[in-house]
Amino acid sequence: MICVDVHLHTRFSFDASIGPKFLADALHQHPVVKGVAVTDHNTLEGFFHVRRFAAAYEDVVIIPGVEVSTVRGDVIVLGVEEKPAHWSSLESVVDFARARSGVIVIPHPFRGGGIGDAAKKIPSDIAAVEVANPDASDDENRKAETLAKSTNMPGVGGSDAHHIYQMWKAYTQVEAEPNVDSILKAIKQKSVTAVLARDAR
Ligand SMILES: [Zn+2]
Repeated sequence: MICVDVHLHTRFSFDASIGPKFLADALHQHPVVKGVAVTDHNTLEGFFHVRRFAAAYEDVVIIPGVEVSTVRGDVIVLGVEEKPAHWSSLESVVDFARARSGVIVIPHPFRGGGIGDAAKKIPSDIAAVEVANPDASDDENRKAETLAKSTNMPGVGGSDAHHIYQMWKAYTQVEAEPNVDSILKAIKQKSVTAVLARDAR
């Protein structure tokens, strides 16, 4: 089992400040969370920097990802090292992810920026719902949980951290080996448990 934060931003997002080297070091030092998906807004640049710094450590896994601003709201694609076009349609992002064997994470579906019930248009065999997001209200996370159940998608946790103090406030326990392929496969197979650690230090 490995604990993975599936949603985190670096300073390569226009609205975030976490440095790539700081992130790699913090993951190495963290007692529980050992994997992170770098999911900057419409860019992979931060991911490449984090992976380079993390190469110094054997105990951490860096998953490529991107949070795409679609016309319906935000959608994350994991396991890809390039990005779809900004303001893509939801359908084209699904096609993009499937063509590259990526996994879609539907972030905070009922919080601001979320795609809401449009999530039901996304095929459940390549998608997961973020049911634990520390910036969403309890009610918004509960609605996300209901969406995951009704669509038969796995529920995952991501901190959506933009700044250092927000890191690791939610994560996902994944029944997988500590490598990107095994983690993505386990998410698709629903071998995951979302953890909300909002009050943890
Ligand atoms: Zn985000």
